[in-house]
Amino acid sequence: MDYPERYGVIVIGGGHAGTEAALASARMGVKTLLLTHNIETLGMMSCNPAIGGIGKSHLVKEIDALGGAMATATDFGGIQFRVLNQRKGPAVRATRAQADRALYRAAIRNILENQPNLQIFQQSADDLIVEGDNVRGVVTNTGIRFHGDTVVLTAGTFLGGVIHVGMQNSSGGRAGDPPSIALAHRLRELPFSFDRLKTGTPPRIDAKTVDFSELQEQWGDKPDPVMSYLGHVSQHPEQVCCWITHTNEKTHDIIRGGLDRSPMYSGVIEGVGPRYCPSVEDKIHRFADKNSHQIFIEPEGLNTHELYPNGISTSLPFDVQINLVRSIKGFENAHITRPGYAIEYDYFNPQELKFNLETKHMNGLFFAGQINGTTGYEEAGAQGLLAGSNAALMSQGKEGWCPRRDEAYLGVLVDDLISMGTKEPYRMFTSRAEYRLLLREDNADLRLTEKGRELGLVDDVRWAAFCEKREAIERESTRLSQTWVHPKVENIEQVNNTLGQPLTREYSLLELLRRPNLSYQQVVELADNTVVDPQVAEQVEIQVKYAGYIERQQEEITRLRRYENTELPESFDYHGVEGLSNEMKQKLTEARPTSLARASRIPGVTPAALSLLLVYLKKQG
Ligand code: FAD
Repeated sequence: MDYPERYGVIVIGGGHAGTEAALASARMGVKTLLLTHNIETLGMMSCNPAIGGIGKSHLVKEIDALGGAMATATDFGGIQFRVLNQRKGPAVRATRAQADRALYRAAIRNILENQPNLQIFQQSADDLIVEGDNVRGVVTNTGIRFHGDTVVLTAGTFLGGVIHVGMQNSSGGRAGDPPSIALAHRLRELPFSFDRLKTGTPPRIDAKTVDFSELQEQWGDKPDPVMSYLGHVSQHPEQVCCWITHTNEKTHDIIRGGLDRSPMYSGVIEGVGPRYCPSVEDKIHRFADKNSHQIFIEPEGLNTHELYPNGISTSLPFDVQINLVRSIKGFENAHITRPGYAIEYDYFNPQELKFNLETKHMNGLFFAGQINGTTGYEEAGAQGLLAGSNAALMSQGKEGWCPRRDEAYLGVLVDDLISMGTKEPYRMFTSRAEYRLLLREDNADLRLTEKGRELGLVDDVRWAAFCEKREAIERESTRLSQTWVHPKVENIEQVNNTLGQPLTREYSLLELLRRPNLSYQQVVELADNTVVDPQVAEQVEIQVKYAGYIERQQEEITRLRRYENTELPESFDYHGVEGLSNEMKQKLTEARPTSLARASRIPGVTPAALSLLLVYLKKQG
């Protein structure tokens, strides 16, 4: 049957990409349908119940700055919060939260169900309605035809999903969920290039069977950091402890003894796994000289005894899993509640996407999340927000958008994917961004909220809070530049002690804050000790202390913008460029970069090739 209503955007999949996509489109006022296998698994974390971490928290804060749900759900579901890299510079500082799996899911569902313009429907999408090169809607497994202007596909690890435990394998989207077979077949008929990737998860452990007495405790930071710019510690549920233990030589021997029945080492699994989140058998094999690996033991939630042993993801046979777990300190009598497993799935070459995540082969069809070759909730959520908002823009007849590399990690992520593609699950790191000092987790709102407001992604409450913060930063900077400390002030002794040398002339507080040895707190204490919001104080301090570096990065960006602004048409004939080597012609024809800057980031494309392109474009006028 044809469903009686028509949608501007239809999103397939209620994981991290799908929920952010559906919310973004609906926030922009477009009638949106979220079609997913199971409403109970909306916002489900397939693996580690944790959000954020290095590079990833930057994405979470960017999603938040654009009005998305991930950071807010983390504040309602987080049971341990920490800021990693606290002693390093602000560019690489990263908030990480351990989440209660059920509370996180409930928070996401609550946000979805209360979102105007959004309808949710539980069923499997088995087919796309296609007319020529245009997508027109989705057909479900019971034959319901949903019609829409655009479709955002976010099927995660479900397309052609195969689960492996030892030499046994079975179809599945993740443990306990069906795979998406019909849709995978349909997509393979369409002109998309696809390949296989794999990922894995550790066995879960019953806390009642663990001996915690010898394990190292790990508590969160105090005071608790918050994830959302609008978040507050009062939203956090009870905070709990995590623990640390280690593998040992015996564990490694058990693993080596099981490798002949490992699907990875016997060639049963063909997909490439995540380099930065390897299985324990991979670690033992690759780092043969190490006799111990760290394991973080993380609670799955407040109302469950299940534990997530972070660091022993495995697809070894179950009997080997029992032995390897029980060889670890604290786990001698451990009961496994769910076996670890690996999953193989289809992903599509992201080089066949446009900057707005629309597929090049089919108008109105957008791809986001794990199906684009990424791994991680945060990477998926960020792409979902971008794809959902662009699908909404298309249905409104408006131009698409994507932040540049110097504006957001989201820009880096999409640019990396569409320019270079990926042969292994791509995860975000701060090292992937060339303008790290500009793209900090503390300033994602200052970088993106105004754009989000313009697009219709940011509601009145967030906008008002943002404007107030931005003005307060301005006010405080001005105040510091106009507040003076004179050599004759009453508290000159305190001043000289703080400075570590006698004050010889009058200085503004702003000038003093530039000194590397003085903190914001110390500087304001020299004058009237005015108290401002800590978020405002942090911004002022970073902006003043790093002003020189930030300025230099800005200058470089301006210089390189010439390349960003030099467009390369989709139909560009690289074979017609005189002097370009065959290798360059092939690389550029395959990747079809949309600008000279994107061409420059394709691995192997040389500065000489870029010069030839520039000369050729100039000649063409
Ligand atoms: P998902 O979260 O997988 O969501 C996909 C959604 O689409 C699901 O709700 C599904 O039901 C729905 N769906 C699929 N097909 C259809 C259809 N045809 N019709 C309707 N609904 C459909 N990431 C890491 O960073 N580190 C790890 O160690 C890690 N380990 C993992 C281990 C396992 C076993 C799995 C399965 C994933 C792991 N991940 C890991 C990846 C992480 O779970 C994903 O990156 C993230 O969930 C991707 O989000 P997504 O929205 O793209 O897809």
